[in-house]
Amino acid sequence: MPHAYPFLTPEQKKELSDIAQRIVAPGKGILAADESTGSVAKRFQSINAENTEENRRLYRQLLFTADDRVKPCIGGVILFHETLYQKTDDGKVFSDYLKERGMVVGIKVDKGVVPLAGTNGETTTQGLDGLYERCAQYKKDGADFAKWRCVLKITPTTPSRLAIIENANVLARYASICQMHGIVPIVEPEILPDGDHDLKRCQYVTEKVLAAVYKALSDHHVYLEGTLLKPNMVTAGHACSQKNTPQEIAMATVTALRRTVPPAVPGVTFLSGGQSEEEATLNLNAMNQCPLHRPWALTFSYGRALQASALKAWGGKKENGKACQEEFIKRALNNSQACVGKYVSSGDKGAAAGESLFVANHAY
Ligand code: 13P
Repeated sequence: MPHAYPFLTPEQKKELSDIAQRIVAPGKGILAADESTGSVAKRFQSINAENTEENRRLYRQLLFTADDRVKPCIGGVILFHETLYQKTDDGKVFSDYLKERGMVVGIKVDKGVVPLAGTNGETTTQGLDGLYERCAQYKKDGADFAKWRCVLKITPTTPSRLAIIENANVLARYASICQMHGIVPIVEPEILPDGDHDLKRCQYVTEKVLAAVYKALSDHHVYLEGTLLKPNMVTAGHACSQKNTPQEIAMATVTALRRTVPPAVPGVTFLSGGQSEEEATLNLNAMNQCPLHRPWALTFSYGRALQASALKAWGGKKENGKACQEEFIKRALNNSQACVGKYVSSGDKGAAAGESLFVANHAY
């Protein structure tokens, strides 16, 4: 066994761990606003808005310029390539604008899922070619963290060993490339909620997937203190007849994390994965009230669960800008409370708070 050849200086390590800590500081989480143009098309279709570059800019500008109540709630914002280079109405590049507000700028760097041959519909994620160069450029252009999403599916025959190993390895390779450029990698092995499996099966699969991911990160010499994990919560499948309480979901999720995620990892930033806005907040709150010891920050990196009501309130109309921002602020405040275990539901449902945001075989 050769010894490790250090690839990060103490200064580089400090930079990475400082970035990660800032994103998940108490009360803070991530706004995932990195939907690809194709995903935005589906979201905009639901409100009858045209999917133009200008409409995407206008909508995201509303989220980014929501008033200062969101400042203590949002530690980082994940952008899509196009958005990193768009500007506010006053001509300020979004990434500069967000930084001035104390939010860390992130960028989605994967290029989506592609089939894994010989499997039962499983996938890997592409985008490693040229990633070294793209990360160097993104760092210059203001990004301090990145996201790469891999997808695993639960069926009676999946995830296969191949899918678990391949996706763990591609996540680790991505993470090491990011760190060489001073970019904190968010490692996202999403196990989809599709299926009729129960909570126990999801917990078992989540443990196997996360164990493989941390083995691969170790093999690739990734500096764990300068990473964040973005997993699914452990839940029963969307089509399972048995429903679990937030306390049961929290216990299963925290148990799976404790068995697999080293304490060196500063934060776990959950995806919302099709849960309703209210469900995602209640589940996160329950995790932070869970009696088990938790060495990492447990917070949110929500796309749908931060945006659904806001998008609906906007409806693609200029005059609804304020209403859109109010809905977004409400979700940001609720989730900020949930990540310190202090959320108390007011019963106010908002425009879409109770609606399931499930999308079968979800692509981002
Ligand atoms: P959802 O919260 O909508 O699942 O998306 C978060 C995300 O960034 C998935 O990659």
